[in-house]
Amino acid sequence: MVQNDDIPNQMLVQPENIKEFLSSHNINSTRQRLAIAESMFRTQQHLSAENILEQVNLNGVQVSKATVYNTLRLFVKKGMLREVVIDPLRTLFDSNVSDHHHILNVQTGEIRDIDPININLPPVPGLGPNEKIEGFDLVLRVTNTTSPSD
Ligand SMILES: [Zn+2]
Repeated sequence: MVQNDDIPNQMLVQPENIKEFLSSHNINSTRQRLAIAESMFRTQQHLSAENILEQVNLNGVQVSKATVYNTLRLFVKKGMLREVVIDPLRTLFDSNVSDHHHILNVQTGEIRDIDPININLPPVPGLGPNEKIEGFDLVLRVTNTTSPSD
């Protein structure tokens, strides 16, 4: 759950504009969808479905886990959210839908965005003669280095 001011194209929506935001993507506003959207789009962040479920319930709206999953999938399908698969057991939903990569600190669980402009691929072996790279998603797993005094 890290904010990052360096990356443009964040899909941030003020609470009073949530309904309009959903209808502009042809999504009917139910109370549950509004609550989920409000939690997800209020800032640039990476959240799991469980995070969203917790937040929405804290805000006093009763939502089932299935509804949270279905709604997040709908937002992804509509291009409002991006799915980031950290590992097979952990999928995060990213309110930043622009092209970017991620740094994951495996010790702290913190995830942050990397501007794609800073990442270039070397020539990649194994491409077929009629294939070109359309895109790639990078998750760099990092650990903290220990300081010399440790
Ligand atoms: Zn991201």
